[in-house]
Amino acid sequence: GAAVDLSGRGAGVRLENITKRFGDFTAIDGVSLDVRPGEFITLLGPSGSGKTTTLNVIAGFTEADAGRLLIDGTVIGSLPTHKRDLGMVFQHYALFPHMTVAANIAYPLKQRRVPKARRAPLVQAALESVRLNDFAHRYPRELSGGQQQRVAVARSIVYRPRVLLMDEPLGALDKKLRDRLQLEIRRIHAELGTTFVYVTHDQDEALVLSDRIAVFNRGDIEQLGTAEELYERPRTLFVARFIGESTVLRGPVEHDGGRPLIGCCGRRLRGEGTLPEGARTAALVIRPERITVREAGQDPTGSHDCALPATVTGVIYLGSGRKLELRLPDGTSALAREQAGRLSGAGIGDEVTLTWSARDAVLLADDSTS
Ligand code: ATP
Repeated sequence: GAAVDLSGRGAGVRLENITKRFGDFTAIDGVSLDVRPGEFITLLGPSGSGKTTTLNVIAGFTEADAGRLLIDGTVIGSLPTHKRDLGMVFQHYALFPHMTVAANIAYPLKQRRVPKARRAPLVQAALESVRLNDFAHRYPRELSGGQQQRVAVARSIVYRPRVLLMDEPLGALDKKLRDRLQLEIRRIHAELGTTFVYVTHDQDEALVLSDRIAVFNRGDIEQLGTAEELYERPRTLFVARFIGESTVLRGPVEHDGGRPLIGCCGRRLRGEGTLPEGARTAALVIRPERITVREAGQDPTGSHDCALPATVTGVIYLGSGRKLELRLPDGTSALAREQAGRLSGAGIGDEVTLTWSARDAVLLADDSTS
């Protein structure tokens, strides 16, 4: 085994009100983010939402028009990329085709003038980290896409940067390989203790990898939180829709002793959350596994329960259970997930009653009317 310990404390990364414009287009608009030392943070969002621009500002490829970047509490200013103590991995790995795997991985050490005698053990340790010990003397063309991407990861960690930036590193790989490499990246993160800032538009990938996720929308962070916080307590409809599946019910806001409700399909439905002052319409978000499918006409049991009639429009078999697609009386579509062993037996065309607890419904401002 390698005698070299690759681990080192990760650095904190802090963005304060970073803004970047391209001409009169604002790509990121006052982004603030505090990444803790050693944390795995993912920038998640749709195409064009500003994730890569944010990463490029941290890397020093792009200069911000306003705001501050701090690494470990030090303002970075216009320090060039190679002096920022960062490692980088991108979707297109760009290994040197005429160099062996070992030479590719040693390259950043050579660039940083690490003496020759010290390079070999560092390369060996990096190879071990990505489990490619037996491939040191191969050329990139003799490797699969996944192996090439592991070489790219080894090359980015060989000089032990305190922050690792990754931009869709698995984007070019097929799903099975992606799943496996996600687990490898998690393991490498745990072993190194390096701070990871990872860009993806794939919510599943973000959920698997991250300590916390920053959800980007139109050049700003809409919500920052753990996977569980984003899923259970989304703060906006955008976040609710982007992370996982849900039923979204919309209706006029009514009040019952000060507590807001929405009117939907002739019922008054309660939820958890607060609305902006004076909101006239609002939305309720309910996750599919929180909805129970019952026989039509069956009334909810507990006093906190909510119920609506629905028609089953689709049934998807999942192995671990079923997903039911439903239509509510006002035409809204709904989703319910049932666990194997607890199936309702409802089929396409059946009239059913959907019930859920008001505690599991998240009340949110309706962004379609703003
Ligand atoms: P993707 O997932 O597609 O990579 P992203 O969230 O990473 O998207 P960015 O690459 O940060 O998005 O781009 C944000 C916006 O800024 C986009 O609308 C993009 O067209 C614009 N943009 C990025 N770089 C430039 C540039 N060099 N010149 C002009 N516009 C740019």
